[in-house]
Amino acid sequence: MIEKHTIFLNYAEALKAIQNDLEQYPPQPLLLRHLAQLILGEKVLISEDKHRTGLWIAVGEKGKCRLITYVQMPEHLCSVLSNKQLSYDVLAKICGCVFQESAYTGSQFFGKEKGIWVETGMEDFKCLQCGQCCRFLDYHKELTHEDYLFWQSLGRTDIMKRVGVLKRAGENVAYRIWIDPVTGRISEGCPWLIRDSVNNRYICRIHDVRPGICRQYPGSRKHAGMTGCNAFNLRSIRTSKKTA
Ligand code: SF4
Repeated sequence: MIEKHTIFLNYAEALKAIQNDLEQYPPQPLLLRHLAQLILGEKVLISEDKHRTGLWIAVGEKGKCRLITYVQMPEHLCSVLSNKQLSYDVLAKICGCVFQESAYTGSQFFGKEKGIWVETGMEDFKCLQCGQCCRFLDYHKELTHEDYLFWQSLGRTDIMKRVGVLKRAGENVAYRIWIDPVTGRISEGCPWLIRDSVNNRYICRIHDVRPGICRQYPGSRKHAGMTGCNAFNLRSIRTSKKTA
């Protein structure tokens, strides 16, 4: 049996992950409506705006209604969340809705800290090497200090010379990838990516030592779906064809 890939989030991490999800994607009306019910409580009147741009939500004792658009809703829900102490069961329910996978309460391995286990679906992931993520996603500001130190420890000056380093008081404070060493500007496209036209795929020339952001992508089935990675869809189609 294939083991499910899961991540453990403590209370604060779960709230942060929910906020990240709601802020990083375009508004997700169905999810926001469901979350509004879960987070604001069943007693709060929630009704869809006739133009479907948001929800009318009853606020205060007198039941006065206010339209909160789907664009404003993530901020509104996150601010309510940060002022509430939810039970772990409710938090798990919210995580399940947001991440579109099973989520359940539990403790971390060998630890007593309580939190939420969230399945990611990554056990079904197999990269198609289509190059979609490398070519179209914005990862320029995502290089970490650990990535840079790692290349330094390996003496990979070929990689480091393509990293823009922002210094303050002699310390590296931020990084940009990938820089054209001649112009000093951000390169158009990843300089390590090459097209293998015979096999109709892309190959990363620094695959074994690629940055954490590339190693961790997509991280979850939902993030893959939201950012144009078809690895899960095509795999499930192939699997069902095989078993048909
Ligand atoms: S978009 Fe998905 S399948 Fe395509 S290269 Fe990136 S991770 Fe692999």
